Amino acid sequence: AVQANFYQVRLDLTPDIEKTPLDNGELLLLCTRRTRLKKIGQTVMVGDRVLIEEVDFTDKRGAIAQVLPRKTELQRPPVANADQIVLVFALEEPSLDPWQLSRFLVKAESTSLELCLCLNKADLISQQQQQQWQEVLQQWGYDPVLISVVKQDGLKPLLERLKDKISILAGPSGVGKSSLINRLIPAVEQRVNQVSGKLQRGRHTTRHVELFELPGGGLLADTPGFNQPELDSEPTELAFYFPEARQRLEHQQCQFNDCLHRDEPNCVVRGNWERYEYYLKFLEEAIAKQEALQQMP
Ligand code: GDP
Ligand code: ZN
Repeated sequence: AVQANFYQVRLDLTPDIEKTPLDNGELLLLCTRRTRLKKIGQTVMVGDRVLIEEVDFTDKRGAIAQVLPRKTELQRPPVANADQIVLVFALEEPSLDPWQLSRFLVKAESTSLELCLCLNKADLISQQQQQQWQEVLQQWGYDPVLISVVKQDGLKPLLERLKDKISILAGPSGVGKSSLINRLIPAVEQRVNQVSGKLQRGRHTTRHVELFELPGGGLLADTPGFNQPELDSEPTELAFYFPEARQRLEHQQCQFNDCLHRDEPNCVVRGNWERYEYYLKFLEEAIAKQEALQQMP
């Protein structure tokens, strides 16, 4: 959505529309939403795949007639069909806090999206320290991409992981998310202004999220997702959001179906993994949250 009642729709280069006058294989249309959709309360989100009617190639206008079923749906930021969360943390300035990182990881794991962990500011620590972090995170079950936006290091492997996917950035402030967006999509400012110009009213009327095309293929939301994650998982699901615990549960079962992996007999999750302590703390939080919810009238 560009503004409340306008949507910028990009045509796919599908065989059906090969004969249409596409410029550089891409055509952006400014579309309205058909009244019928408004009546049935069908919203249009950024990332939606839509069918359009009444296409006017001269004025580059059209009308959205149908919204195709969504694969995924995020509320913050509001994006449909996202494939993955790119969680960005800094290795230094601010220094990497395993507890805070785990919070974000658990939040990301609790969505149905894939996860790509990206550690920025590699230029501020030694090779040896980088290696140590790699090892720690591998033990947690992750395969992080180390980058330096400033030195432009590691951006190619990152782009490789963003290829052909719709990605949403997440992470605390100060880790370099805006710097990364600006580096990957140099034309951000320009493109936003271009669209606003057409509408004659500027970009400030509605805060909009936009998906930008990446140089190696794929789309990236210009607005980062959760930067203060609320943990609202079901206590019995929490262990599945830790890869170390999830791996165990894929191969074995605890004696009780609703095991919380604290002091139950014959538990396969409890035990000697580094983040087990974090798990217990998050579990307490999840239980407290659930109890608070149950007490609400
Ligand atoms: P955001 O809050 O996550 O959007 O972070 P910003 O993009 O605003 O960056 C915060 C600060 O980190 C800025 O001063 C950046 O210049 C700096 N920064 C970003 N990337 C790097 C990097 O790769 N190395 C170093 N040393 N500093 C960086
Ligand atoms: Zn258990």
